[in-house]
Amino acid sequence: SIMAIPMIVEERINGFSIVLHEDPYFFSFDSFKLMQSLIHHSSLAISNSILRNRLQEMVDRDHLTKLYARRFSDSYVEQSIQQDDSGMFLLIDIDNFKKVNDTYGHQVGDEVLVQIGSVLQREIGTRGICSRWGGEELAVYIPNILDHEAIKIAQMVVDIVPQTTSPSVTISAGLITWHKQVRPDFQEIFLHADTALYNAKRSGKNRVCLFEESMELQY
Ligand code: GH3
Ligand code: MG
Ligand code: MG
Repeated sequence: SIMAIPMIVEERINGFSIVLHEDPYFFSFDSFKLMQSLIHHSSLAISNSILRNRLQEMVDRDHLTKLYARRFSDSYVEQSIQQDDSGMFLLIDIDNFKKVNDTYGHQVGDEVLVQIGSVLQREIGTRGICSRWGGEELAVYIPNILDHEAIKIAQMVVDIVPQTTSPSVTISAGLITWHKQVRPDFQEIFLHADTALYNAKRSGKNRVCLFEESMELQY
């Protein structure tokens, strides 16, 4: 015997429940009605949870690039500093982006942002998170990573962006790494990355600078 009951929410089938019994003609019509009523109620709970997840995604993600939004990135970094053994934060700023907008229009500028977003996501994958930090500033955070790996990834990102954008743009980036021997302050991470980024810009753009204590802080 088999009873199959669809889970219908807003005229769409979200799934179904199947009840089996080895004896033939086992289920009564009453047991079917009872089952139907149970499924109907649980469908609502399931659809609420689906909607909730969808809503959370919308809050966590940047609409244009589909990268994580700043707020999500902030809390991710904050948690990682407390829990993980090490980490890297890479702050990226597009070089001469104003010129791209002025030459090709704001919409093409937006497309370039989307292109960089998707190449970041492709390259970083599940190792860490990529976020839209601000207007034309993006960020990558990767927990539990060795210094030399962090530098390699940062350099790879700087190298690959001009090859994967059209019109081609270069980026500058500021890198900061930390280790559990000296857990950094949450704000310190961003301040130091920004300082390193400033140095990358000042020394000619299209490059990554690793933060050093000797750098003059940029407030
Ligand atoms: P630099 O190499 O020093 O970073 O030069 P830049 O031109 O990139 O820097 P600047 O700060 O002068 O200009 C940033 C530009 O980024 C200005 C702004 O119009 C553009 N921008 C910021 N957010 C967006 C966006 O969401 N879409 C587009 N198309 N442009 C944006
Ligand atoms: Mg900028
Ligand atoms: Mg810029």
